[in-house]
Amino acid sequence: MPAPIRPQPGIMDIALYRGGASTIAGVRTPLKLSSNENPFGPSPGAVAAMRAVLADLHRYPSTSHAALRGAIARIHGLDDPDRIIIGVGSDELLSLLAMAYAGPGDQVLFTEHGFAIYRIAALAAGATPVAVPEAERVTDTDAILARITPAARLVYIANPNNPTGTMISMGELVRLADGVPEHCLLVLDGAYAEYVPAYDGGAGLVKTRGNVVMTRTFSKIYGLGGLRVGWGYAPRAVIDVLNRIRGPFNMSAVALAGAEAAVHDQAFVQMCHADNLDQRTRLAGGLAQLGIPSDPSFGNFVLARFTDAAQAIAADAHLKSCGIIVRPVGEYGFPEALRITVGRAGDVARVLRAMATFRGAAQV
Ligand SMILES: *Cc1c(COP(=O)(O)O)cnc(C)c1O
Repeated sequence: MPAPIRPQPGIMDIALYRGGASTIAGVRTPLKLSSNENPFGPSPGAVAAMRAVLADLHRYPSTSHAALRGAIARIHGLDDPDRIIIGVGSDELLSLLAMAYAGPGDQVLFTEHGFAIYRIAALAAGATPVAVPEAERVTDTDAILARITPAARLVYIANPNNPTGTMISMGELVRLADGVPEHCLLVLDGAYAEYVPAYDGGAGLVKTRGNVVMTRTFSKIYGLGGLRVGWGYAPRAVIDVLNRIRGPFNMSAVALAGAEAAVHDQAFVQMCHADNLDQRTRLAGGLAQLGIPSDPSFGNFVLARFTDAAQAIAADAHLKSCGIIVRPVGEYGFPEALRITVGRAGDVARVLRAMATFRGAAQV
């Protein structure tokens, strides 16, 4: 008997990704705060643009994505649309980077509590994942630089990071970019960059270096997680490599039209940004008053820390009983914490009320 077919080495080491839950048994309309989704939904202009293309879906979509790349370049002040690539969520681009640049014997670095996709992408490419310790839940530039070996091919940093919500300064990013050697790519995942005032997500570093890549997404502040659109800004040589391995029709016509309209509606983005800032302050402040600390968050979520895992599990169960779904983050190495997406004013009030009754019950 011939040996049964087997997947490439590394693939069976990948733990299945588990997304945020979306249902509670017996609750018809739960408050879902488990996937860092925009509580305002997508821009109405984006919805209209997507409706408008439905009658033309017998046509294949653009393979160059030129219109969307042009719009992104204009809005973000990026000189060259040919240094932009569009992907099926930034997840696709993060995976293509690993597929293109890392393989067996190579190392892929990311931080201790970094986004789950980095490890998955490394293992799927057959490379060796290397988790670098953080300094109190914050990316540690020196620790990363100290672990880069001749075998390192990629360093993934989410800034701000999920699920910690923390970020490092532009000065630290520059120091990191300066220290990463030419044989290794520094990938700056800017999924939450739009939530940070006056932050370009690292675009300026990409402009001037040959080995820095930035990824961005329409899944968070643009409220289009269901559409699956992300983009990357990279040196031309990297874009050329990725374009060879991406599917020529990876983006649907609906996705391209929706994202292009969304990027043109910056008034909507600014409204979401301002509201998130207010509500995040209220949420983190209210939790702190209840004795539930969190690090200053730069994203649209807060990592609420409890005294131990049992407390976090009990709080999660209590929130569920109140119809609220948040994200336990044990698989991210935080069994004692819950990640709570910042909702609208009424949502935040509901979370704080539920937490108050939880703490009240815990203290009697
Ligand atoms: C949500 C998120 C993304 C976005 O992934 P998409 O595939 O674009 O939906 C990327 N990186 C981080 C850190 C995230 O939290």
